[in-house]
Order: sequence, then C-alpha cells, then structure tokens
Amino acid sequence: MRRILRLMFTAAGPYAPQFHATLRVSLAASAVQAAAYASFVPLLAELSRDPVRTGRAWLWVGVLAALVVTEGALRVRESGFTYGYWHLVTQATRLRLGERLRAMPQQELARRAAGDLTSVVGANATAAATAVSALSTLFVQLVTVPVVLGAVVLAVDWRLGLVLAAAVGAALPFVRRVQRSSNTGFHAVDEADAASANRIVEYVQGLPVFKATGQAGADSPRLATVLAHQHHAQSAANRSAAAPLAAAQLLVRLALVALVAVGSALVVDAKLSLGLLVAIVVTAARFAEPLSMAAVMTKLFEMSEAALTRIDEVLRVEPLPVAPGGTEPKDFEIRFEHVTFAYDGRDEPTLRAFDLTVPERSLTALVGPSGSGKTTVTRLISRFADPQHGTVRIGRVDLRTLGPDEVLRHIAVVFQDVYLFDDTIRANIALGRPDATDAQIEAAARAANVHEFVARLPLGYDTRVGEIGSALSGGERQRISIARAILKDAPIVLLDEPTAALDTESEVVVQQAVDRLVAGRTVVVIAHRLSTVVGADQIVVVDGGRVTQRGTHAELLADAEGRYARMWTAQLAARHWHLPPTEAGARTGHAP
Ligand code: ATP
Repeated sequence: MRRILRLMFTAAGPYAPQFHATLRVSLAASAVQAAAYASFVPLLAELSRDPVRTGRAWLWVGVLAALVVTEGALRVRESGFTYGYWHLVTQATRLRLGERLRAMPQQELARRAAGDLTSVVGANATAAATAVSALSTLFVQLVTVPVVLGAVVLAVDWRLGLVLAAAVGAALPFVRRVQRSSNTGFHAVDEADAASANRIVEYVQGLPVFKATGQAGADSPRLATVLAHQHHAQSAANRSAAAPLAAAQLLVRLALVALVAVGSALVVDAKLSLGLLVAIVVTAARFAEPLSMAAVMTKLFEMSEAALTRIDEVLRVEPLPVAPGGTEPKDFEIRFEHVTFAYDGRDEPTLRAFDLTVPERSLTALVGPSGSGKTTVTRLISRFADPQHGTVRIGRVDLRTLGPDEVLRHIAVVFQDVYLFDDTIRANIALGRPDATDAQIEAAARAANVHEFVARLPLGYDTRVGEIGSALSGGERQRISIARAILKDAPIVLLDEPTAALDTESEVVVQQAVDRLVAGRTVVVIAHRLSTVVGADQIVVVDGGRVTQRGTHAELLADAEGRYARMWTAQLAARHWHLPPTEAGARTGHAP
C-alpha cells in the first residue's frame, strides 16, 4: 500500500499538495465517521438503563448529530478533489507523459509499440486519475473506520474486542491471498490489454494487406489469438481471486455470529448489559462492512496499481544525458570517429570501429547489403542513441554535448515511409517550421513539385490529408515530406532514397524535388539503386557495420573485383532482366 501511495503521489504530479491535503481531510472525516458510529455505544447503554436519564440520552443524540454534520462538511471538502481535480490530474498526467515521450531517447521510443504507448497515455492515465481522486479517499476510510471502531469495542468490553481481533487475524491471510492472486492476475490482464491494443493498432494499419490475404474478418488469426489471450487472462484473474475473496467475506460474517454468541453468553451471566451488547453489535457490523469491502476493493487497487506502474515506468525513462561543454556547431561536416554501436539488448554491434567524414555541403551515398548498418548510421547522426565507443560529431561538436532538440534543429529527414498527420496539407508542410508564412509554405511546395497537384484540389492547401488520405499517391506523399524538409531549411539532410519504391513517372518529379532539397547542403543518402548516386561526391560501401570501400563512382568501378563493382554489375543485369515469354507470347516485363 505504501508503494501505491508513492505511485499516487507521482501520478498526482503538480496536484500533489492538494492530494496530500485531501488525504488529511479524508482521514479526519473517517475518524469523525467512526466516532459517530461509536457514539451509539453510550447512547444505547443509556437507553437500556432503568430508568433512562433523558437528559444524557439527548446529549448523546446531540453528539451523534454534531459528528454526522462534521463528517458531512469534511466530505464536501474531500469531494472538491475527488470531483474537481479528476480531469485536471488526467490532463496533467497526459501532458507529463507527452513531455517525457518527446524527450525520450529515440531508441527507447522505437522499442515501445504504438499500442502500448496509446494505452499508457489513454486508459492508464484515466485509471491513475481515478485512483488518485476517488480510490485513495475510499482507502483511507476503509482503514480508519475499522481501526477506530475496533479500539472502541476493545475499550468497552475486552472479551468481545478479542473476538473481533481473532476474526481479523483469521481473515487477513485470505485477504492477502486475494491480493497476491489479483496482483499477478491483473498484471497479466494489463499486459494482455496492452498486447491486444498493439495488435488492434497493427490490424487497423495493416487492413489493406489483411484484406488482400483474406484475413480481414473478426476471426483474423492475428487478432483472434490475442483477443482470446486477453479473455483467458481476465477469466483467470477473476477465478483465482474469487475463492479467497468469498472465504474472507465468510470469515467476517462468522466473526459477527461469534460476537453475538459470546455477547449473549455474557448477557445471560449478567456480565454485560443488553443495551451495551446491542450497541457493540451495531458498531461491529460497521467494523465488518469495510473489511469485506476491502477484499473487493483489492481488485480495484490492483488494477490501479498496474496502471500507475506503467505510467511510472514511462515517467522514469531518463532523456539522453547532455554532457557539458556543448557549443553551437560552426559548420556542418559530419564525422564518425571509430564508432562502435550495438542496439539495446543486442550483443553483436551493428557498427564496428566505423570511420566516416561527410564534408560540409557534399553528398555522401551509403550503399551496401540489407542489414549492413546504413540506416543505423543516419540514426546516429540524429542522436537516436549514443555509441558505446567512439564519437559522432557535427561541425567538430560531440553530439553527446547537444540536447536532442539542438541536434534535430540542424537536420531534415526524408524517409520512404512518410507520416502525414490528419491535418491540412498546409499544416503538414509547416511541421518543418511552425512559424512559416503562407508564402514560404507555397515556395517550399513549388520547389518540391507539390503546388501543381495541391492547386488542383478544391480546398487547395486547406485540404485535410485525412479526407483524401489514400487518394494521395506514394509520390505525392513523398513530395509533401520533401516540401516539409525544404521549408525546415536545415543544413544537414538525411535521405532514405525516397524514389526507390516509385514508378518511373513519379520518380522524375520526386527526383527533381530531391535535387532542389539537397542543393548546397550536407547530405547523407541511403541508396538502394546505385544508378541514383552515380554523381555523389562520395560513395561509401557499408558491409557488416564497417566501411569496406569509399570513393567516387568512377574510382570504385576501377576496382573491378571490389564489392561496389560487383553490386553495379548485378544491378545492371537486373535492369535488363525480362520475364520469359508466356505461352501467349505477349507479356514481357522488367525488374524495377
Ligand atoms: P536495409 O537496407 O535493409 O534498410 P540497413 O543497412 O539500413 O538495412 P540497419 O537498418 O542499419 O541496416 O540495421 C542493421 C542491423 O541492426 C540489422 O541487423 C538490424 O536487424 C539491426 N537493427 C536495426 N534497428 C534495430 C533496432 N531498433 N533494435 C535492434 N536491432 C536493430
């Protein structure tokens, strides 16, 4: 419980002082509530006297009324937080999570699945706010009221107090079992929930592929497996908690029966007045109620704990440290000095003693087999992660001394997968520079060959991408992302050969856009087709995480036995490849 409380304070964030004050009010309200129940003891004892001292009886009624009113007033203050701050805590938690995700090292971010993060920022944030606002005060009540009432019963009659203490002692192991089984159960449920959220996101994103392969129904095997797992996790969690929960509740009820039995024996022996017994039974019933509720509440607490833990995990991810001594790069030469880098959780390094200099305002093409480490090189330039050995520098400044925003400010990227937001085309381009004027946006769009097709749309730049989403061709999406990069006007450009997946016609317009983007900048391009980088200032062959060859196209071809020359020959051969004539003899084709 101390852990949950700590997590709740973390989740309350900027509202932690209000949360603290609320817990204090809640504690006071619960103590007053318990005192109100306890005031039945003297009241009923008085009423069972012969003769009844009317004045005294009214006095206790007055005390009872005063306590009830006081509790009511305190609960009103308590509810100020319960109801008033719920949405504020939710919003604050989401903002803090957003801030953390923004600062999160790119490697960490890439490691986490989209569905996972969606459930942390969505459902988990809501559950955490509910826990902080409503559950916490309920918890204070559930603990305070039985403790105070137990002490009252013990003070009035130690024998009956012992019966209650024995019942609590007997019920506790069962309550702990409920806790333990629901703890493991609900963590499993939470993981299953996250897995199914991931799969649903994946399913929706991959619908066109699933449809093409006939797996789009609700019985899609990828979806069905994870949903079945979620169902099983939920049933298992409920089942494992059900038996000990019922046992704990039964024990609490049996304790009441035992109390009545022992009390009756004491009354028969004239060791206890009937009025006092009735008062104690009334009090003890109040004592038992929260106890049996506590077992049910365990379920809610475990669910909240799982949500709070997942939020805490994200909030605890530290941004990459920024070493002191960072200065603004004076030029934009990129340099890898003996860089060795392994991805988290991988023993084998992806880059080994990697050396590379990309002179300012020159174009360097990275070529090499799939998985050789080309993308990793471009990632390290944007400080995706820090290398384990060696140094990556921009303009002689070690990237470790620059914060992520400082690094990314100098870099524009164009990758094959273009992410367009569900916003206007204008806003999608302006992402490169949010304060850009319409004229600047249009100039970038013209340079990227975007203007022509946007001008043909009825709403022009105000067309929402979501509304025409799939109507945009691959080439058009690429051009929007190039316009974004042109508008950003960063001195360094990283490209993952954007024309690789396009047909010849789109390729020409996209290539024009790329040419305008890269002019006069320091450029690193990952090239899949060697024909596109024949004119590069420098071609670097990456193989097994090392630079194996370097030079201009002509220099590299001169080494006829070298890797580059062999790749060149292979790609030329592929270009002239034709489908064998079909039986009809009509169909011919060529490789992309
Ligand atoms: P391709 O041409 O196919 O895109 P590449 O040359 O760009 O390949 P990289 O993407 O840099 O190669 O990958 C190099 C190696 O690092 C591969 O073995 C890959 O599986 C691994 N790798 C890439 N990204 C990650 C990651 N986020 N976590 C762990 N390993 C990774």
